[in-house]
Amino acid sequence: MERRFFLRCLGCSFLASAMLQSDFFPEILGGLKSAEAYSLTKNLSSVEARYYKKLPEGGVECGICPRHCRVTDLERGYCGTRENRANVYHTLVYGLACSMNIDPIEKKPLFHFYPGTTAFSLATAGCNVNCKFCQNWDISQSRPEQTDNVDLPPKEVIAICRNQNLPTIAYTYSEPTIFYEYMYDIAELGRSNSIRSVMISNGYMETEPLKNLLPVLNAVKVDLKSIREDYYKNIVGGELKPVLDRIIQIKKSGTWLELVYLIVPTLNDTPEEFRELAGWVKTNLGTDTPLHFSRFYPQYLLKNLPPTPQKTLETAYQICRETGLEYVYLGNLPGHPAESTYCPQCGKILIERKGYRIYQNNIKGNRCYNCQRNIPGLF
Ligand code: SF4
Repeated sequence: MERRFFLRCLGCSFLASAMLQSDFFPEILGGLKSAEAYSLTKNLSSVEARYYKKLPEGGVECGICPRHCRVTDLERGYCGTRENRANVYHTLVYGLACSMNIDPIEKKPLFHFYPGTTAFSLATAGCNVNCKFCQNWDISQSRPEQTDNVDLPPKEVIAICRNQNLPTIAYTYSEPTIFYEYMYDIAELGRSNSIRSVMISNGYMETEPLKNLLPVLNAVKVDLKSIREDYYKNIVGGELKPVLDRIIQIKKSGTWLELVYLIVPTLNDTPEEFRELAGWVKTNLGTDTPLHFSRFYPQYLLKNLPPTPQKTLETAYQICRETGLEYVYLGNLPGHPAESTYCPQCGKILIERKGYRIYQNNIKGNRCYNCQRNIPGLF
């Protein structure tokens, strides 16, 4: 099999930003260098999928996500990564990474999860929704035969992490729900090798697969894209209700949870929506769940909209803080004070961030160094 240089655009953009900040994580660049040459393959996988049932009338029904695709012979589900072959459902992307990179954990973003550490990040092709603002649409909306894939079985992922001293694996970039089996097996193997796993997800997954997955994960970040059902229908191509239910399920499981809300101008940016969102988080998850607001930049099918004004982000921040949420962050605004973590009790700065860089971390054993208030998360 051909050995050749492999580096996707996601890695390139990371490298570009790293090079702009010349002293930015030099050890990451060294780690990536030895991780970048892998075998490209044209073959798709044919591992039997989990959570499907055979239908009496023929065909199969997938139970991984709320779409419950019903799939006849030689057809695929909506995500394009699962295929019925003679009434046996297969995942076509098991062990086939189309993007991999070494990222700061802050890029996920996870702000209360081992700050300043790195994660080996990987994705396969495919997604179970079609967000009009997707920044990774070139892989999320592709079928696996349209992407450059690397043959990377779970044991190889673990070997990379061990060789490069990477403490965490992040399933990210596309939607890990659609490569569930691959993610699960890596996470399980990682757990027995003391390597953590974090899922960066849209939360559009079924209850049972999530229930069985959570014990092998250490943290989940969910993109709660709106608090309105019509936005999910028209802009995301999914449903809000199952996402809200899965977020509550994750919170109740005790697995560390953070939320991100991308503010898209004119589509989900009103003070009423921010109030609804803040109220829902407070009631269902508690005031100590971190909530990140992220700035939109025009791309994919929404190139006609402007970037989110800073004032809109600050309005969202203010409404959530007034509602009582204790850890609210603004993202894609490098240098803004709301990138940092403050003690909700004494107001002292606990973790100072600029972009993905940590300038100080004053949390000692999950407590504020000044007033000893407990700070939730894994530090
Ligand atoms: S995981 Fe894919 S095939 Fe299964 S229900 Fe969801 S979109 Fe359909």
